[in-house]
Amino acid sequence: MSDLDRIVRELVIANRILANEDVVDAYGHVSHRHPDDPGRYLLARSVSPELVERGDIVEFTLDGLPTGEETRALYLERFIHGAIYEARPDVMAVVHAHAEAVLPFTVTKTPLRPVIHSGSFMGAEVPVWDIADQFGDTNLLVANMAQGRDLARGLGGNNVVLMRGHGFAAAARSLIEVVRMSVYTPRNARALLAALALGEVKPLSRGEINARNAGYKPYSPETQRAWEYWARRAGCGDMLG
Ligand code: MN
Repeated sequence: MSDLDRIVRELVIANRILANEDVVDAYGHVSHRHPDDPGRYLLARSVSPELVERGDIVEFTLDGLPTGEETRALYLERFIHGAIYEARPDVMAVVHAHAEAVLPFTVTKTPLRPVIHSGSFMGAEVPVWDIADQFGDTNLLVANMAQGRDLARGLGGNNVVLMRGHGFAAAARSLIEVVRMSVYTPRNARALLAALALGEVKPLSRGEINARNAGYKPYSPETQRAWEYWARRAGCGDMLG
């Protein structure tokens, strides 16, 4: 199996996992940089993530144009992906989602910080990007490259950026890593929301975050265990290699 076949198959699994784990619903998407051309990426056509199949995966240039003839509808916010790949050569996979638990942290001054061990993947800083800062009154969708590039600037060198009144974008070195980040960021947000209601909160220290991230290996047995668990729960265990 070529790298491209493998990535397409894993991208389908990633879509199903993110839907099953309530990170995405009818909206939201996950992409991977093209394994043979860093100036391209792979992302589904406009379809709900739970329903994505291999034939739905479309190849795009970084500016969001399909590389082949394409008559099907495409995600309006695909520019999020290309703009992040353009700004961050280290990034191989991107998720955009509207997970409910992160939304309060996009519209208040309360920062989203890692407070549980599995939340460490979001990193010490989770910036909030506000589309209105550069673009005024919009429908809040990242609908062109200028808006995508502004979002990528907001992400900077971080792993996750919150989008005011909208959701988040996550960027990582592999699909497993970005899926893991996208599952645990809302979970961490839920724990933090519950903790804030109880009183003072102690976030993970920078040293703890660094210690966890230094030991992280995307294809270790521990990480594969989570991928297999999520895929089977999502009903696509038969697609695992
Ligand atoms: Mn969106």
